[in-house]
Amino acid sequence: LVRLRQRLSRSQGGLGRGLLAILSRDRLDDDAWEDIEDTLLTADIGVAPTQELVDGLRTRLRVEGDSVDVRAALREELVKLVDPTMDRTLKVSGADGAPGVVLVVGVNGAGKTTTVGKISRILVAQDRSVVLGAADTFRAAAVEQLATWGERVGVPVVRGPEGSDPASVAFEAVKQGVAEDVDTVLVDTAGRLQNKAGLMDELGKVKRVIEKQAPVTEVLLVLDATTGQNGMVQARVFSEVVDVTGIVLTKLDGSAKGGIVVAVQRELGVPVKLVGLGEGPDDLAPFDAGAFVDALLG
Ligand code: GDP
Repeated sequence: LVRLRQRLSRSQGGLGRGLLAILSRDRLDDDAWEDIEDTLLTADIGVAPTQELVDGLRTRLRVEGDSVDVRAALREELVKLVDPTMDRTLKVSGADGAPGVVLVVGVNGAGKTTTVGKISRILVAQDRSVVLGAADTFRAAAVEQLATWGERVGVPVVRGPEGSDPASVAFEAVKQGVAEDVDTVLVDTAGRLQNKAGLMDELGKVKRVIEKQAPVTEVLLVLDATTGQNGMVQARVFSEVVDVTGIVLTKLDGSAKGGIVVAVQRELGVPVKLVGLGEGPDDLAPFDAGAFVDALLG
């Protein structure tokens, strides 16, 4: 965890350092507050949350005067924005003896397959039995990639012939999960954003066939943190197509735009549950609002 925090803070620390440098100026005039706004906007926090944070801080400084601990106040305001009250537990267990079914969605390249592999590793480490469904059938490499993860982690991967119907692979995976009484089935899906109707058809069908056998317990939307506003547009489309229940923000290790956590949670009203901090099997961490803000502040 310490290592992850270090890695996160190395790419994120710029925001906190930048803000603290401005806040420690002798005079916090309008220019200074404008610089603070710019710094927050550059980190992709979004316009409304930026305004809230600045208003909150200005009020506190005015009311509490010189006695205020600026760093602590900034930390508190940031934690408030990230919202520590959201339920971030992964729903990996089913009810009434059914397996938990986790559907992983997002555009190609966001890190879906990698995330499925990393989650399966965490679950196996917790002694849970897992089946993976390789329903990203449009990208042959994705199926191979998931098969490699399955071998590495030691979990079965259900796959179909190349180009087969993603829904049929998802169906078979959950069928196997039910038959073998496993704890969790993780289903990787295809992320072609050709158009909303096509995506809706495809993911809708995947979900429907799964739910003939077991309820979907979690729909994780995987988003690449480095894609900024473009990622937000994708997030919106996916959330209109399926009921997203949690967000996985990948590639935070390579981004100084950690503010996207705030923006995307606001936009979708859904918590960030996991963050990807690298390409390795252990580079996935549960999201914790306090630890994240500490990393931001460096
Ligand atoms: P998919 O198309 O959504 O399934 O995406 P992949 O899982 O194939 O990932 C695309 C690329 O992003 C791969 O090279 C991954 O190794 C890389 N990747 C995934 N997650 C992370 C992360 O958290 N950090 C970094 N640096 N790279 C990642």
